[in-house]
Amino acid sequence: MEFVDRVLKCVDCGADFVFTAGEQVFFHDKQFKNDPKHCKQCKAKRARGSQKVRPETRTTCSECGAETTVPFKPTQGRPVLCRSCFQKQGKAQASLEPTAAQD
Ligand SMILES: [Zn+2]
Ligand SMILES: [Zn+2]
Repeated sequence: MEFVDRVLKCVDCGADFVFTAGEQVFFHDKQFKNDPKHCKQCKAKRARGSQKVRPETRTTCSECGAETTVPFKPTQGRPVLCRSCFQKQGKAQASLEPTAAQD
């Protein structure tokens, strides 16, 4: 089979990018069924994004004093609970995630 460079459109930024013959050979070898959907820039961006760690704040549980991390900045005066204390207390009292009222 012969491959020729093809121009595809990036689903993220809408830019045209070249799906080169070499890349098509690679895809064919790997038996990938779908064409690439992202340009090189977006692919690199996504790769970087997936490596990014979620912002976490180290704090101590106001119930048992155990060290824990929370995915938000604890508000002063608000009790912060570790996962097990949070589950023990239920959702009625202190909230682990103040912005999310519902489960
Ligand atoms: Zn793109
Ligand atoms: Zn605790």
